[in-house]
Amino acid sequence: MAAPIVAIVGRPNVGKSTIFNRMAGERIAIVEDMPGVTRDRLYASAEWLNYDFRMIDTGGIEIGDAPFLAEIRGQVELALDEADVIVMVVSGREGLTEADEVVAKMLYKTDKPVVLAVNKVDNPEMRNDIYDFYALGLGDPFPVSGSHGIGLGDLLDEVVKHFPDEAAEQEDEAIRFSIIGRPNVGKSSIVNAMLGEKRVIVSDIEGTTRDAIDTRFVTPDGDEFVMVDTAGMRKRGKIYENTEKYSVMRAMKAIDDSNVILMVLDAEAGIREQDKHVAGFAHDAGRAMIIVVNKWDAIEKDDHTMSDFENLIRDEFKFLDYAPIVFVSAKTGQRLDRLPQLVKDVDDNHRKRIGSSTLNDVIMDAIAINPTPSDNGRRLRVYYATQVAVQPPTFVIFVNDVELMHFSYERFLENKIREAFDFTGTPIKLIVRARK
Ligand code: GDP
Ligand code: GDP
Repeated sequence: MAAPIVAIVGRPNVGKSTIFNRMAGERIAIVEDMPGVTRDRLYASAEWLNYDFRMIDTGGIEIGDAPFLAEIRGQVELALDEADVIVMVVSGREGLTEADEVVAKMLYKTDKPVVLAVNKVDNPEMRNDIYDFYALGLGDPFPVSGSHGIGLGDLLDEVVKHFPDEAAEQEDEAIRFSIIGRPNVGKSSIVNAMLGEKRVIVSDIEGTTRDAIDTRFVTPDGDEFVMVDTAGMRKRGKIYENTEKYSVMRAMKAIDDSNVILMVLDAEAGIREQDKHVAGFAHDAGRAMIIVVNKWDAIEKDDHTMSDFENLIRDEFKFLDYAPIVFVSAKTGQRLDRLPQLVKDVDDNHRKRIGSSTLNDVIMDAIAINPTPSDNGRRLRVYYATQVAVQPPTFVIFVNDVELMHFSYERFLENKIREAFDFTGTPIKLIVRARK
């Protein structure tokens, strides 16, 4: 399930971000209709041949005012901890430097595959300059030009050769979810309280190193869950661990690996920009989502407090209007027992399929109540709708002219679909297509 991770390392200015952006292509485009939501350039998904993978630009992690060596060490440690394959970048323009040797030395310790990319080889004549880099002892150097997009195909061919065997992955019925949120909102406390429930049977998943951080449990009703990236919450004392970017990257990775996301907010501390950033990523990724407001024990309450907080959340996270909100306390255990069932329900909704005839009845009824818009005397005609995918549920609506479908009418149809079927907790996608 988890896609392989490629980390890009190297001293500053060799072109790591340039290569990262080039490989990610349009996959890191910013979604505009969500204020406050930007994708982090530290982490992105990418594709080569038949492989989906994720990339980390370790240069994107800035470790405060750490001295140069500590900064590089933190970045390389991050790569060693997270990646399946490491790409070390050097610069063919500047040639071999002492700092390159420092990075290479840190990589000797690992048995993870390292691929060496010599960047800024912008023209064929410069290819002769790459031989010096054999001295790094990291095998054949691959000449590339990040800014011109040259040689990246050969580099990626080499990278994907080292990906773990797909065949090793097995089908799994368990519901995969993760608990994300800023530091200190109470993620670990919730995990411990959920897994500490005596009626839950827990086992760590055997297998690759990366799988070992997932925790499997079975409830008394026999529902199987995998809590993704449980160990990501444990503080391991690494130099990069306390940076905000790392915590965002961690969350993005967990989101990619899960179907359902529990986004934890802190009732005491309120909502922050970083919460929105991570929530936006989960929404874009099409995951099912539950908003968990923790530390409910810690605030003064009257009979408005809960609905006020709910309104605040709806206001701040407009794009998550489908996500249920639960108010819990990891400290007292209040309402935590509801979480497994809720995860199961939204997971069901996330993979729900609606038959075409029922769906079309709903759409035609909707059109009867609220006629389609028209423009310059031409009226939108809706012919037919059908569900084409799950996780998230995705519907194609065939019309006479795509231009005539307005955002507000699309929104109206989505609302009608949501009224007719229970899609609580899941985004749904509408795709409008012209039929001739
Ligand atoms: P990072 O610090 O390793 O992430 O490096 P950047 O990606 O920020 O690039 C550092 C500088 O090198 C920038 O000025 C880039 O425009 C430049 N650069 C990156 N790739 C290439 C390349 O392939 N050829 C040339 N000539 N310059 C490049
Ligand atoms: P994480 O960084 O998100 O994993 O947060 P932790 O689980 O480490 O919790 C951060 C702090 O919040 C700790 O001091 C916890 O004791 C406290 N905390 C967590 N959950 C609750 C809660 O429900 N109520 C109160 N009052 N404190 C909590």
